[in-house]
Amino acid sequence: MADEFDIERLAGLASDEQAPVRKAPSRLKSRTYTALIREQQKTGPLLDLTATKRGGRKLCVFEDLVQIAPVGRNAESAFVCRICHARVLAENLDHAPIWWPGCPYVRFQNR
Ligand SMILES: [Zn+2]
Repeated sequence: MADEFDIERLAGLASDEQAPVRKAPSRLKSRTYTALIREQQKTGPLLDLTATKRGGRKLCVFEDLVQIAPVGRNAESAFVCRICHARVLAENLDHAPIWWPGCPYVRFQNR
């Protein structure tokens, strides 16, 4: 059958170091990240921004604003990048023109 899934052929391609490397579209990575964060939120609050920063991850500019604002711990554990311009651009454009540091959506761009 021509459409049959050939796992042996795929395994061979995966182990072929000469095979061209194809990256997932940045839009797909961004939408997947958003979906994963939303699923994670169903199980409880996200790690707060202070702990995230202390752990070594650079924060997005929007996260920085929330982190320095006099807000409660609930706001610091929210998915701040849901309001980030980078998320909207990254979910809808490959090679989105976003450059600010720290935002996970910028890191998904294939550059
Ligand atoms: Zn962001």
